[in-house]
Amino acid sequence: MSELIKKNAAELVSLMASGEVSSVEVTQAHLDRIAAVNGTLNSYLHVTADAALKVAADVDRRRAAGESLPKLAGLPIAVKDNLTTTDAPTTAGSKILEGWVPQYDATVVTKLRNELMPILGKTNLDEFAMGSSTEFSAYGPSRNPWDTDRIPGGSGGGSSSAVAGFTAPLAIGSDTGGSIRFPGAVTGTVGTKPTYGAVSRYGLIALASSLDQIGPVSRNVLDAALLQDVIAGHDPHDSTSLPESLGSMAEAAANRSVAGMRIGVIKQLTGAGFQPGVQARFDDSLALLAKNGAEIVEVDCPSFEYAIAAYYLILPAEASSNLAKFDSVRFGLRVTPEGNPTIERVMAATREAGFGPEVKRRIILGTYALSSGYYDAYYGSAQKVRTLIQRDLAAAFSKADVLVSPTAPTTAFKFGEKIDDPLAMYLNDIATIPANLAGIPGMSIPNGLADEDGLPSGLQILAPAREDARLYKVGAALEAWHEEVWGKRMIDFAPELKVGA
Ligand code: GLN
Repeated sequence: MSELIKKNAAELVSLMASGEVSSVEVTQAHLDRIAAVNGTLNSYLHVTADAALKVAADVDRRRAAGESLPKLAGLPIAVKDNLTTTDAPTTAGSKILEGWVPQYDATVVTKLRNELMPILGKTNLDEFAMGSSTEFSAYGPSRNPWDTDRIPGGSGGGSSSAVAGFTAPLAIGSDTGGSIRFPGAVTGTVGTKPTYGAVSRYGLIALASSLDQIGPVSRNVLDAALLQDVIAGHDPHDSTSLPESLGSMAEAAANRSVAGMRIGVIKQLTGAGFQPGVQARFDDSLALLAKNGAEIVEVDCPSFEYAIAAYYLILPAEASSNLAKFDSVRFGLRVTPEGNPTIERVMAATREAGFGPEVKRRIILGTYALSSGYYDAYYGSAQKVRTLIQRDLAAAFSKADVLVSPTAPTTAFKFGEKIDDPLAMYLNDIATIPANLAGIPGMSIPNGLADEDGLPSGLQILAPAREDARLYKVGAALEAWHEEVWGKRMIDFAPELKVGA
């Protein structure tokens, strides 16, 4: 196994810049690792080895010629399979899109290509990003490198298991209710959901358009910052993308500090309902923050009690509308039934065969919540709750610069544990959903191992809209102190020992 795969993105960038290693070597090392462990981890649905090596060779040639190159040139990356790519299938984890190769690249993919980053492949996800475990992927679940009997989180379990399993130094995720942050928490990786609109959604297969946001997955905070700086920015193709720049996240990560900051602990997101070992590590980090000059304050967000209920009305409502376009005519699968194949019957047969159970559940829920007669009672009420949550957060941010909580109530659960109980599955999202409902940025950083099972837990940091820099400042500070306390980085504790050693 090449030592190169253990290096962080920032380390690889400087090794390549100084000419100590080539991009082809770095890219090949990750492709070799993919060949060795992807059969077990199932992080990637498609590996684009030739295309990645071509970009790598091009970078090496241009570097040798003395050309000035973009900052992350030559650094390989993995992309969640709900972003469109013209040179690889894009399935969103669904049978209905099997084999579909899009006609255009997502803006984020274009930005990666312009940065000259070799794209290693497309990563697994719960079908249309609906889920918390990847068990709803039509292509089988991804596995958690820390314990392959356990889920790597979802929906972005392909990206999290790739980064935790050292098959990519960086990956792209999407977060509608926690799909970057929850997988981060259970695999000991960093995941950021930027402010809504900070990163273009053009070419992201929409789940719930008012909640979706693309963001970075990495093994440390600086690496996430470097990637957010590449993918962020206004895009005329996405009318919800922010016109202004939010500044350099890499700079914020480098200026790590919490001195004089007010850190708000959300009363509703601690204590009962959280696994004791997860809570204990959270308390350790609070003590570290206080010791290093932060003021810890408690904040009250009473409407969070209704966040999951509101989310699971708003999300299915938007999803049922967004998924109507998968009609057997425009994309992917077409099933022609026996007898008289009218367009309605072809559509129905295709959607019956092409969508999995969770997608069907949410389409039915969403169309019901939007139907006339129920619209005000369900969708309308959920939108009111959304406003209350935004007000709770605005009040909390008048008392605190950032808010913190455990990212998830538990560590990684076992396959099969929650798949037949949708409500239990939905409860994972209790801490992550409010950020999507309010459009604010959130980050999950590795926060030590829970005592009872030795598995990674996560700490979530939330900031006001457009203040993503605060996440990086605080996240990088905590990460540095963790390393001093534990003597090594979180990621060095285990995973690759269990897979492909
Ligand atoms: N687990 C959440 C859900 O199932 C989050 C999904 C997401 O962020 N894409 O909706």
